[in-house]
Amino acid sequence: MKELLNYIAGEWQKPISDMWLDNAEPATGKVYSRLPDSTNEDVDMAVEAAKKAFPMWSSKSVEERSRILLAIAHEMKSSFDALAEAESRDQGKPLQLSKVMDIPRAIQNIEFFATEILHFASESHAAKGVVNYTAHSPIGIVGCISPWNLPLYLFTWKIAPALAMGNCVIAKPSELTPLTATMFAELCMKAGLPPGVLNIVHGSGKQTGAAIVDHPEIKAISFTGGTVTGEHIASVAAPTFKKLSLELGGKNPSIIFDDCDFEEAVHQAVRSAFTNQGEICLCGSRILIENSIYDQFRDAFVNKVKQLTVGDPFEDGINVGALVSKSHWEKVLSYIQLAKEEGGTILCGGNSVSPKGRCEQGWFIEPTVIEGLDNACRTNQEEIFGPVVTLQRFSSEEEAIALANGTRYGLAANVWTQHLAKAHRMAHALDFGIVWINCWLLRDLRTPFGGMKDSGVGREGGFEVLRFFSETKNVCVKF
Ligand code: NDP
Repeated sequence: MKELLNYIAGEWQKPISDMWLDNAEPATGKVYSRLPDSTNEDVDMAVEAAKKAFPMWSSKSVEERSRILLAIAHEMKSSFDALAEAESRDQGKPLQLSKVMDIPRAIQNIEFFATEILHFASESHAAKGVVNYTAHSPIGIVGCISPWNLPLYLFTWKIAPALAMGNCVIAKPSELTPLTATMFAELCMKAGLPPGVLNIVHGSGKQTGAAIVDHPEIKAISFTGGTVTGEHIASVAAPTFKKLSLELGGKNPSIIFDDCDFEEAVHQAVRSAFTNQGEICLCGSRILIENSIYDQFRDAFVNKVKQLTVGDPFEDGINVGALVSKSHWEKVLSYIQLAKEEGGTILCGGNSVSPKGRCEQGWFIEPTVIEGLDNACRTNQEEIFGPVVTLQRFSSEEEAIALANGTRYGLAANVWTQHLAKAHRMAHALDFGIVWINCWLLRDLRTPFGGMKDSGVGREGGFEVLRFFSETKNVCVKF
């Protein structure tokens, strides 16, 4: 059985307490590695290493930090296939998806922030006899806590800007998907990242994550995960005045108007619903369809969903892999049961799947489409985070907006219409941090990324995240 270790002070470290967690392959349900269940002693050790490294790392020129990050990206490219395979084994997603989405994007994250830092500038305000300028300096030691759905993609999305800005990082990947973060540490060593600059501490959220959030010398927390965990972290961290960035859950609408490009809207609504088994915070899980095309759209949508193949992530042509854990699989199945109890009609799917062969015991669920539920029911209000979507009708722009905005979440919406003015009206009326018009998951890393309402606080991406990972000082000079 593979043994994953913490990466602290540039070295592999066993957990001080010798406590371990099992790590299973979702497609088979079998445990295949173990990882440290680190305690606050391990986090203390990581903080000591980061403290030692900070003066050296923060005083390096941006060109030098950029060069080291680009060397890490280069190592990632050399290990592309191994990273993609590990990500699929650990998370359950189709290998093809790891190859076209997760790993390319993880590399892009590192390259993007390695070069963005070269262009980061601050403002100055001149007046008669006086000039003010803004200085951005690294914060010090920061904590990065990431979830299991896009493991290396979201891990690098946080640590790359933190490191580029000159901070030292204590990072914790999800206990469910620790593998690629561990491989990443090895690539950092090869690329010459100095010891202590990045420290990866594995373990459960409740123990290791909590120790990071609690630590008095960790001055900022960048967290991506569920809204309930985010609430808890905010309540613990706020009294210590740590900087907080919280990227949380969603219940995103795909809004289909009758003047859409029909074929494209069907294709993208399916993609947005079921990519990565529906385990992307940006997935459109509530599909709102204009009354005049409801039947036609529903039939075309269901027809396409029925063509999706579920099974071994390592087999060619598989569209939907395994759900990340047994408990998550049970949770998603319980929501399908709830939808039935709430009066929903299952149009397709609705069952677990047991593929023949090595994946018989894996955690698979058929892509599931449900109609006939109103917006207020739990199925339409709570984040399911699996291959389950609902269809609802609307008959006016106002109704579409009311339905779309009618949950506690506000992460991402996608709108399908060929009417330019309507598209802009919708974009302004929707209470979401991201609105995609006639597209989905089209990302430009320079743009602000984050949610409104209970989907989070703060924005990642672009220069926004460099500002988050820095202290801002105004200097006023009279001459
Ligand atoms: P969780 O909130 O359960 O966990 C996220 C991370 O936080 C994990 O590393 C977890 O560790 C850790 N954690 C859990 N409890 C604590 C705690 N008390 N203190 C500190 N850290 C803790 O989310 P999931 O991993 O289940 O991820 C799915 C959620 O993430 C969904 O709600 C999804 O919408 C959201 N998400 C949001 C995104 C966004 O950009 N807004 C992007 C992607 C996902 P461990 O796993 O070891 O318990």
